[in-house]
Amino acid sequence: MIERFPEEKLKEVSALLNKPSRILITTHHRPDGDAMGSSLALLLYFQAKGFSPILLVPCEYPDFLQWLPGNDQVLNFEDDESHAEELVNDSDMIFCLDFNWLSRVEKMEPLLRKSKAVKILIDHHLNPESIFEYTFSYPDASSTSELIFDYIKASGDEKLISPDIATALYCGIMTDTNSFRYESMKAGTHRIIASLIEAGARNHLIHQNVYDSNTENRLRLLGYALKEKLVVLREFRCAYISLSEKELEMFNFRTGDTEGVVNYALSILGVELAALFTEREGFVKISFRSKTDFSVQELSSAHFNGGGHKNASGGRYNGPLSEAIMTFLDILPEYKEKLLK
Ligand code: 5GP
Ligand code: MN
Repeated sequence: MIERFPEEKLKEVSALLNKPSRILITTHHRPDGDAMGSSLALLLYFQAKGFSPILLVPCEYPDFLQWLPGNDQVLNFEDDESHAEELVNDSDMIFCLDFNWLSRVEKMEPLLRKSKAVKILIDHHLNPESIFEYTFSYPDASSTSELIFDYIKASGDEKLISPDIATALYCGIMTDTNSFRYESMKAGTHRIIASLIEAGARNHLIHQNVYDSNTENRLRLLGYALKEKLVVLREFRCAYISLSEKELEMFNFRTGDTEGVVNYALSILGVELAALFTEREGFVKISFRSKTDFSVQELSSAHFNGGGHKNASGGRYNGPLSEAIMTFLDILPEYKEKLLK
């Protein structure tokens, strides 16, 4: 394993932090549990160090993450774009968490690209863009939250991990490993989880807050998706679900409501590849999941302008829902051999 956060680089970052600097933390569009967990943990850690960082996210995020410690300090770019622009322009250091390409912050991309601030990437996605002054990219990590733990520890500050920071980090690792079940969940990550519980993360409450907080609509949408919309293609060991805007509206869709739906398709015995197509305004968002060796990262970057990880990736299709599905069905034969292996 390559050494994470080498001492020399850490010293340089630390010198910049102490300059003093205006620090901004940001993460990817449609932030998930790891994006929010890692960003909030870094925010709270910097505050514990006596800095005054700002956390600016590109858009709204699911209700099931809005209980996280520090949630009331999160600024949403979409709420006040001109104020957000000032904040980005005024910052000296920008910490970019849980994404590898600036395009992943969508509407904030031009702002970040033209900003003169020192950009520091902390991430676990493959092939990061080479625009960052400091790139801490470790694709073998379970999550960016694991990396924030490593960063704090490598900085000699493990004792600063408060119950709130521990809670945010636990939530990020838990959600990005689908509750500790992915291959990326190594023994070392379990040790980090143990440290976080010792530092005050109340694991049963975190699971409850994230997984046992469905609205009735969300659960009924899941029921509908599984009963009416699940297609199983045994010949390709593949299963997929599609949901149109109209169908989402039938269940009063809210951000985050389709999170996890794709995992049910993947859970079918014999299925190696699962996809979820959701129609959004003007494009189709696609989530891919796979078991074992099949790389959905390759599939989504080759055909759907996407990326992510070997077993969990996402992409998009600019066109109607039916065309997105047709495109997927057209490329499946190309992957048949790998899927049947
Ligand atoms: P999800 O399916 O949960 O939205 O995303 C799964 C993984 O793929 C996450 O690591 C996420 O960051 C990544 N991902 C999702 N959508 C995209 C996309 O449009 N482009 C890229 N490069 N990665 C994505
Ligand atoms: Mn992540």
